Amino acid sequence: MKLENLKVKQDVTFLDAITLGLGKEQGLFFPSNIAPIENIPALLKEDFVTRSSHILTHLIGNEIPAETMKSIVEAAFTFAAPLNQVNENTYCLELFHGPTLAFKDFGARFMAQCLGRYNALVKGSELQNDTENDARDGTDCSGQKLTILTATSGDTGAAVAHAFHGVDDVEVVILYPKGKISLLQEKLFCTLGDNIKTLAIEGDFDDCQSMVKQAFQDDEVMSQLNLNSANSINIARLLAQVCYYFEAIAQLPAEQQAEAVISVPSGNFGNLTAGLIAKALGLPIKRFIAATNENDTVPRYLASQQWSPNQTKATLSNAMDVSEPNNWPRIEAMFERGIIARESLTAVAIDEQLTQLAMKQLYQQGYLSEPHAAIAYKALKHALVDDEVGIFLGTAHPAKFKDSVENILGEMIPLPEALVECASEAILSHSLPNDYEQVKAFLLCRYRQK
Ligand SMILES: *Cc1c(COP(=O)(O)O)cnc(C)c1O
Repeated sequence: MKLENLKVKQDVTFLDAITLGLGKEQGLFFPSNIAPIENIPALLKEDFVTRSSHILTHLIGNEIPAETMKSIVEAAFTFAAPLNQVNENTYCLELFHGPTLAFKDFGARFMAQCLGRYNALVKGSELQNDTENDARDGTDCSGQKLTILTATSGDTGAAVAHAFHGVDDVEVVILYPKGKISLLQEKLFCTLGDNIKTLAIEGDFDDCQSMVKQAFQDDEVMSQLNLNSANSINIARLLAQVCYYFEAIAQLPAEQQAEAVISVPSGNFGNLTAGLIAKALGLPIKRFIAATNENDTVPRYLASQQWSPNQTKATLSNAMDVSEPNNWPRIEAMFERGIIARESLTAVAIDEQLTQLAMKQLYQQGYLSEPHAAIAYKALKHALVDDEVGIFLGTAHPAKFKDSVENILGEMIPLPEALVECASEAILSHSLPNDYEQVKAFLLCRYRQK
């Protein structure tokens, strides 16, 4: 697969792109070409895992042999993405049945499986094609362990930790602010052990984030460790997410399959980017709605052509509290190349009051939801016209936002099994002061490679 840096001239392979994360000058990688898939109706008849491996092989090509891709997808997509009917013409695509109860499990688990097989895959593609290797200057790390270093304010850390747990040749270190995440959030990823190390830092999330950044800029650390950040900008996460849009359409009754409008609750706009790639591949989706909370940079931009981010506000849908969505250049590139018509996307911002109202309206229809999905539902209601079928994405399990859900609906909601199980396990974190030198000493002493 050929990818290009959207900022400066730099062409890389898929395997390069997943180890590099970001390109030169912080540029995002994007496929140079998205060739439509032939015979989509036949593809839609396949099961989720088989179909997803076909889609990813179509996108990524021979860097990952088809049989390897099948076993990667089998290991990553171990849970379903059911389309749940809410009313006559509205469905929710539930993406929260994975181990950390949010859609980020799909992308993180696929990326983990690819990185876990990196050494073998690189050897394989070298044998296949000796001439394609010149782009990988200085990043060849065959035979070495990879250390994933990441900071979390709660949810990303859990998805990354679960995705890499037990993956060969990968060590994971996660920094989080001590005492500033909920006990359940902490239990979800600090009880795993094995190749997952968690550091409770006596500081806030920004301190954790800045120590991670410092490590990536520290020559001593970078020369001795094989570091990767596994963050959400990684192209592997995006490509994995393309697959569940096909799963959504596959579950619609045949007569509705060409009428779907999909509403995506958006923060960094990775999920929407994946949906637009699915459409570019030929999946029959009529159009998309980008649903945001009051952090409404994109809806204002589409209305006025002015890109003017405001100060980020805290809202009920906190995973979408983003005012400078970092995937937007990828969407802009699809518009500019004519892969996606600008008319295929509209955007709506939903305020806090309407978010709560939407949760109540859904509950009255017998559907328990949470703030992120409720925003997508409300935006869909604004935009849907006669004969269209609406799908909104359920990005998190309602129990993940238990407190606000219970407050707004006035109902107690039970914990799902994944949370009940880990709630009784011991937390294995090390505590460290808010001091980069101590974090650095921990990393060098445990993970030195070179
Ligand atoms: C991350 C997240 C989002 C936003 O997804 P993007 O791809 O960043 O737009 C929405 N809802 C939930 C629950 C999330 O965790």
